[in-house]
Amino acid sequence: MMPSPFEEIQKRFPILQQQRNKPPLIYLDNAATTQKPQEVLDALLDYYTTSNANTNRSAHHLSDLASYQVATVRSQVAQFINAATSTSVIFTAGTTASLNLVANTYGAQHLNAKDEIIICKMAHHSHLLPWQKIAQEKGAILRYIPLTAEGHLDQVTFASLLNPRTKIVALTYISNVLGTINPLKQMIAAAHAQQAIVVVDAAQASPHLSIDVQDLDCDFLAFSGHKSYGPTGVGVLYGKKELLDTLPPYQVGGGMVQPDNTFQLAYEKPPYRFEAGTLPIASIVGLGAAIAFLERVTYPTLQVHEQELLTYATQALTTIPGLRIWGAPMPKVGIISFTIEDKHPLDIGVALAMKGIAVRTGHHCAAPLMAHLGIQGTVRISFAVYNTLAEIDQLIDVLANHLF
Ligand code: PMP
Repeated sequence: MMPSPFEEIQKRFPILQQQRNKPPLIYLDNAATTQKPQEVLDALLDYYTTSNANTNRSAHHLSDLASYQVATVRSQVAQFINAATSTSVIFTAGTTASLNLVANTYGAQHLNAKDEIIICKMAHHSHLLPWQKIAQEKGAILRYIPLTAEGHLDQVTFASLLNPRTKIVALTYISNVLGTINPLKQMIAAAHAQQAIVVVDAAQASPHLSIDVQDLDCDFLAFSGHKSYGPTGVGVLYGKKELLDTLPPYQVGGGMVQPDNTFQLAYEKPPYRFEAGTLPIASIVGLGAAIAFLERVTYPTLQVHEQELLTYATQALTTIPGLRIWGAPMPKVGIISFTIEDKHPLDIGVALAMKGIAVRTGHHCAAPLMAHLGIQGTVRISFAVYNTLAEIDQLIDVLANHLF
């Protein structure tokens, strides 16, 4: 039999070839972080071997090389998310840092007492806590979009929550627990009709689908490199140029004031205004390699593969006695959360780990969603391009025959 192209892709990920664990590693914790292909590892090594220097600070050759690479990846990211200009792309430490930046700049500048922020019940804590904190500081109010039984955002309630006091709508592109892909475009248009701005958490979107910030017309959007086959330590904040131009910096430090005005705090233009201090340069270079990897695989190919894994796993899981899959949204990405009657998710996670299968267990940093579902936690499996049907068979075998 011909090997599947995805088995070939799996070979590009050295960590998945390790035989340190017996049986070998089956990695189904991709929503937490993906593994990295050889080309990303090569890019990191190559950067440190040939180009390491600080960016935009020095006249020498290495600094030029490093600065050039950061500028190149900035343009590459702009293209990746279809931003109108690369000055809309701010490098951060990750989604969490990006969302804190927006809350503490736009939120701090625009929110007043009794203003309202709409947030999803399925929000990750990274898109909940920054808004909760700034709302407390400003006397603003959080309003939650509830979920339907299938795990969709309740659009009727969302429409009724929007009102002239709504200043910010914080939307989750894809739920990290249920896999729900939310209908962002229509929700963003509805928010804009009330003059509210929209901040999108795309942490779970960039690994699975092509993001188009101009088509969505979102005002801000955040994602992390490490969930999309790139290194940890780097993320992106996209902001509409006209909004970024009006915002104060979040953090201050080197590289973000104009050189002729040392003490007057004449801040640089975006994106540099928001990038105080030394950037995670190597990780940015690695992010560029990860985007190139994704573009080589292509999203349509990835989606067909992930949907096949999703359908197969969903079907197979229903054969396990007492197993319940939480939510049944359509469309969804390759993320499945489940519980098994009379078994603690952590015990299931440990039993799987003993057989070399890595999954995530717990509340998944989504406390409002867990409260809504009336549970403490789930077992979550999440797929990436390198997972195979045979790995799902092994998962099912452990669940069926080797639980405590
Ligand atoms: N939002 C969602 C939906 C996530 O799944 C995660 C990561 N689990 C985050 C935000 C936070 O991402 P990071 O830890 O990379 O900042």
